[in-house]
Amino acid sequence: MKLSLYNTLTKKIEPFEPLNDAEVRIYSCGPTVYDYAHLGNLKAFLFPDILQRTLRIVCGYRVKWVMNITDIDDKTIRDSAIGSERWNPAFGEQSLDPKVNLKVLTSFYEQEFRNDLAMIGIKHSDISIMPRATDFIADMQDLIRNIHDSGYAYISEGSVYFDVAKWREKEHYGRLFAIDVEHFKSGVRIDADEYSREHVSDFVLWKAVKDAEPFWDFTVAEQQLPGRPGWHIECSAMGHALLGLPFDIHTGGVDLRFPHHEDEIAQSKAGYGQETAQFWCHNEFLEVEGKKMSKSFGNFYTLRDLLDKGMDPMDIRFSMVNAQYGSVFNFTEFGLESASKARKRVQEYIYSCFEGNLGHDNHAEELHRLKQDFFSALCDDLHMPRAIEALFTFMKMCPAQALSHRDRPAFLELIHDINEIVGVWTIAPRPEMDEIPKEVKELAQQRWDAKASKDFTKADVLRKEISARGYVIKDSKDSYTILKEE
Ligand code: AMP
Ligand code: ZN
Repeated sequence: MKLSLYNTLTKKIEPFEPLNDAEVRIYSCGPTVYDYAHLGNLKAFLFPDILQRTLRIVCGYRVKWVMNITDIDDKTIRDSAIGSERWNPAFGEQSLDPKVNLKVLTSFYEQEFRNDLAMIGIKHSDISIMPRATDFIADMQDLIRNIHDSGYAYISEGSVYFDVAKWREKEHYGRLFAIDVEHFKSGVRIDADEYSREHVSDFVLWKAVKDAEPFWDFTVAEQQLPGRPGWHIECSAMGHALLGLPFDIHTGGVDLRFPHHEDEIAQSKAGYGQETAQFWCHNEFLEVEGKKMSKSFGNFYTLRDLLDKGMDPMDIRFSMVNAQYGSVFNFTEFGLESASKARKRVQEYIYSCFEGNLGHDNHAEELHRLKQDFFSALCDDLHMPRAIEALFTFMKMCPAQALSHRDRPAFLELIHDINEIVGVWTIAPRPEMDEIPKEVKELAQQRWDAKASKDFTKADVLRKEISARGYVIKDSKDSYTILKEE
C-alpha cells in the first residue's frame, strides 16, 4: 500500500515515494534533556513512531530512523549551572567544570527519556540512532565554516551569525511558515534559540563563550572563537552526518516550523548546497484547556505523574495514538478514561476469540472490509481515528462468539497486523487466573453449552454447583465471566 502525507513544504497531501529504493530515512527532532518529557513531547515522538511502523509494516520499506538528543542549548546550560538534588548526587559540591555539570544533568534526563519511550511502547530497536548533539560538535563547526566560506555568515563579537538578508536575495526564506518579514531589519542579530515570527533576525550559528558556560575551541576565518553551537545548527549537522542530504522525512512539532526548521533548511542549503528533506511533517500540539502543554506554562503532566495516579501506560499510548497527528489534541483525564475503556473493549474481544463457543456465520466479507478500511485510513495521512473506528464497527457487527472456526484465526491474524502499528494489545489467551479452580472453569463452560442448547434446567443445576464452590457467573450477550462470590 502507498502512504500519502501532508507536506508542510508544499502545503499538500502528497503520495510518498522514497528518494532511494534501499530505505526510507527519517529524522525526528528529539527532546531537549533538561527536564522530564511531558505528554506533549511524547506525542511528538508517537507520531514518527506510527509513521515508521506504517512505512515498514504496511508499505514494506526498510526504515532508518534518527532521533537526536539535544544535550546542549540555552536551557540545559541554564539548569546545569543551577544544579539540583534530583539529578545530581553530588549537589552542593558540583564540579568546577561546566561540561561535567552539563553531562550530569543531560545523562540523567536522557535515561529518564529512554525509560519513558520504552514505557509508552516506542521500541528502542526501531530507532536506528539517537545521536547526542555534543558528539557532533566537529560536524557543526565544519558546516559553520562552509556557510562562512560561501558568504552567508559573519562574525560579530566572537559569535557567528547567519546573514538572512543576503540569503533572501537568493533564496526564499519562509518556506515552511509564513514569517513576518515586514519587521525584518538587516543586520539585527538574535542569540536566543527560540524566537517568534515577528522577530526574524540574523540567527546565531555559534555563540561566543560566556562566563562559566561550557565551550569548545573553534577557528573560523583564522579567528579563534571559543564557544558553543546554536540550537538550529545541531540538527543540520546531525541529519547530514547520519542520513545524508536530502533525506526523506523530517518530523517535529508545529512550533519547530519556525525558526528551527526554517533555519535548518537555510543552513544546510548554504553550507552543503543541498535541500534537507523532501517531506516536512509536523504534529499539532497537545493542549490542556486550550493552551499548549508546556513546561513554561506550568500546565504539564509527565508520564510518571499519570503512572503515579495508577494509569496504564498502554491506555496513555492509545489515547494519543488514536488521534490524527495534524489536529490539536485536547488532553483531559476524562478522555484518557474513555480511551482506556475503548482499549479494554478491544482487548476483551481478543481474549474472547480464544475462549467459548464458535459461531457458524460467515464474516469473511466484514473481515475483508476491516482490513481495507483500517489500512486505507492509515495510509491517508495516518488517519488513526478512522482506522480505529473501522475496528469498532467490525466488533459491533461481528461479536467474538459469532466468529466461526475460520473467521477467528483470520481475525486474530488481522488484529496482530493492526497491533504491529497501534501497539497496545496482547494477542494471546487471557492470562490464567490462578484463583479460579479448573473444575469451576469446566462447570462454567458446561453451563454455557447447556444454555446455548436451551437446556436451562441443566444450566441452573450447574450454576448452583458453581455457586457452592464460591463463584458466580456473569453473562453478557456473547460470553461469560467467572467471578468470586462476594
Ligand atoms: P523539546 O524537548 O522542547 O525540544 O520538544 C521536543 C518535541 O516536542 C518537539 O518536536 C516539540 O515540537 C514537541 N512539543 C513540545 N510541546 C508540545 C505539545 N504541547 N504538544 C505536542 N508536541 C509538543
Ligand atoms: Zn531539531
